Amino acid sequence: MFNIACPCGKTIPVRAGQAGGTVPCGCGQTVPIPTLGELRRSAADAGGITTPSPTQHDWRAWWRGVWLLVAGCACQLVAVLLPGVIAPTTGVVMAAAIVDPETETAR
Ligand SMILES: [Zn+2]
Repeated sequence: MFNIACPCGKTIPVRAGQAGGTVPCGCGQTVPIPTLGELRRSAADAGGITTPSPTQHDWRAWWRGVWLLVAGCACQLVAVLLPGVIAPTTGVVMAAAIVDPETETAR
C-alpha cells in the first residue's frame, strides 16, 4: 500500500497494482498514480516502507550499465564491420558484372 497526495491536500491510499493509473479522490479530482518505481522511491524517501537491500539495487544499476556498454560496443562494432561486410560483397557482384560471359565465349 502506498499513499499519494491529491492537489486538494488529501492522501489517497493506492495499491501497487494501481501504479501508472489514476485514482479518484473524495474531492472529485482524478489523481494520476506514479509508476511503481516512483511510488517505491517516494515511499522510501518518506521512510514509510522497507527498501530492498542496497546491494541488490546497486547490482541492478551495475547490470544496466554493463548492458548499455555492451549495446554501445555492439553498435560500434556493427558500424565498423558493416562496411567491411558490404564492400567485399559489392566487389564480387561488380566483378561478376564486369566479366561478361558473352565476351568470354566470343574470344
Ligand atoms: Zn482530492
